[in-house]
Amino acid sequence: MSLFSAVEMAPRDPILGLTEAFNADTRPTKVNLGVGVYYNEEGRIPLLRAVEEAEKARIAAHAPRGYLPIEGIGAYDQAVQKLLFGNDSALLADGRVVTAQALGGTGALKVGADFLKRLLPDAVVAISDPSWENHRALFESAGFRVQSYRYYDAASHGLNRAGMLEDIKALPARSIVLLHACCHNPTGVDLSADDWKRVLEAVREGGHVPFLDIAYQGFGDGIEEDAEAVRLFAESGLPFFVSSSFSKSFSLYGERVGALSIVTASKDEAARVLSQVKRVIRTNYSNPPTHGASVVASVLNSPELRALWEAELAGMRGRIRSMRQALVEQLAAQGAKRDFAFVAQQRGMFSYSGLSAEQVERLRSEFGIYAVATGRICVAALNSRNLASVTQAIAQVL
Ligand code: PLP
Repeated sequence: MSLFSAVEMAPRDPILGLTEAFNADTRPTKVNLGVGVYYNEEGRIPLLRAVEEAEKARIAAHAPRGYLPIEGIGAYDQAVQKLLFGNDSALLADGRVVTAQALGGTGALKVGADFLKRLLPDAVVAISDPSWENHRALFESAGFRVQSYRYYDAASHGLNRAGMLEDIKALPARSIVLLHACCHNPTGVDLSADDWKRVLEAVREGGHVPFLDIAYQGFGDGIEEDAEAVRLFAESGLPFFVSSSFSKSFSLYGERVGALSIVTASKDEAARVLSQVKRVIRTNYSNPPTHGASVVASVLNSPELRALWEAELAGMRGRIRSMRQALVEQLAAQGAKRDFAFVAQQRGMFSYSGLSAEQVERLRSEFGIYAVATGRICVAALNSRNLASVTQAIAQVL
């Protein structure tokens, strides 16, 4: 008998499965709204000019490829801290924040989860309902029990405010509460400044540990605006975790550029926490890769490249906004039997469109338009060429 004869086939990743089906579709009019990637007006993943310039300089410098420190490039970690906490952050001045380069936002979540497992082995992890599909699996694979708090209200296409607060308040003391800091994936529904204050108080009362996941900084209202929740928690005096990612904001998906930041109570605590985070990293992959983080660090630390990146990011953000608006208007113009105005209120790349699994299936089979069965569509995959066919098809399946 083979060692692997009893190994079962793992379930297919639903979103990657969708892309495989899309690739096999021969209809020239097909559109993939199931992806989690920003496409430009030409339907391609952009290579940002700021990235291109930094890469040219890096190649010209013939930099050797030695090992990085376990926590990554120092200039990168510091630039991440400033983006998240602000240039004038008192926490940073006091040396209370630990930041380690990580393999994308996913890697940051995993390192954070593994470290938390050592600190709070019996804690419950609470994630939003719904959440990015990897959140649950990631914390479960780190050994935690994961449950969800109410978040999305299908009737209003908005936030279930009361449900969310009630569920956070009902968690066992010292739970880990995972929060999407901006541009919620998959719904596009974010908290208002007032909602954040109430969530912060509920978290404080329960003695919970907040874990803010920020994978889309700059895709919502702006770089600083999207960091509002991080800044609020920073002022609260609570210890908390932040996983951040440049996959989207730098269009560097495959380079795996993210970071884990941990806010501690003192410089001394920070040194001890960093030493333990380094142990987690060391025993997982030893140290992070050089290319993506060195590119991001050069862009963020050069005034010219930084200005170029901010302009390019504003361009991506603006294009998503205008696609949201155009989607709403064109659906109305196509005579859609439903008001989609809520789509323009949502933030980030995604929208919970309110389409049912049957309607999504009809979009695929009759029109070659691919979306996630939950009704999640990637607004960033729309462009002026595919908008008419997409809105026409949606109006027909309603
Ligand atoms: N967190 C959220 C909410 C996400 O949507 C994503 C990516 O889709 C990630 C984390 C992971 O980001 P990365 O691709 O940098 O690992």
